[in-house]
Amino acid sequence: MKTFDELLLSSAEAHGHLCPGQAVGVRMAMLGCRLIGLEDPAEHRQIKRILVYVELDRCAADAIAHVTGVKLGRRSLKFVDYGIMAATFVNLETGAAFRILSTEEARDLVALYAPGVREKTRQQLEAYRRMPDSVLFRVQRVGVPIRDWDLPGPTRYKATCSRCGQVVRDRREVLVHGEPLCKPCAEGAYFRDAEEVTWPDMNWTPSPYRRPGEKVEEELVRSLPEIGTL
Ligand SMILES: [Zn+2]
Ligand SMILES: [Zn+2]
Repeated sequence: MKTFDELLLSSAEAHGHLCPGQAVGVRMAMLGCRLIGLEDPAEHRQIKRILVYVELDRCAADAIAHVTGVKLGRRSLKFVDYGIMAATFVNLETGAAFRILSTEEARDLVALYAPGVREKTRQQLEAYRRMPDSVLFRVQRVGVPIRDWDLPGPTRYKATCSRCGQVVRDRREVLVHGEPLCKPCAEGAYFRDAEEVTWPDMNWTPSPYRRPGEKVEEELVRSLPEIGTL
């Protein structure tokens, strides 16, 4: 695995700024990987062996994803909306799982670990470089029951909402009186007053249909990267 400083820099670049959350997130991910026995999970051979549950959608979450290589679109990054600065690292091969929580005490000890630094963000960054893991974190060994429809890979289950007709993947439907419903229909949604609309230029396409063999289309397709390298 790369060094903390290397990971902090690349993480800050990917995240958009250098912040204390990057320092805490990088350290949490380094510890998590060490605990579940994955040296460099972002590396190709190990990428399918890890799942990470992140419990807070703030700066550190990006650092954790960056260091571990987990991604929402690969189903290896699970967001659980707890509002807790914590993450659980799972080794899918061994079943080993550790939940790491960021301590509140670490925030109070910043001045003690970086007394010479005046500017607050700089001071936090420096302190979070110096603090031992045992001050920054608490660790819990946990069991994480993982259902096969939560794993990466092709969609295993589809249901159709009996009220609105929406297809629901991966067992996220809710049974009400034996009927499958999508969660918005069954439980209410984060949005309201949904209304189907038309929109300006609604027939726009980046590549208008041309009869097969016509030159323009073929050239464009050839210029796309090979599937799999995307
Ligand atoms: Zn940030
Ligand atoms: Zn529905």
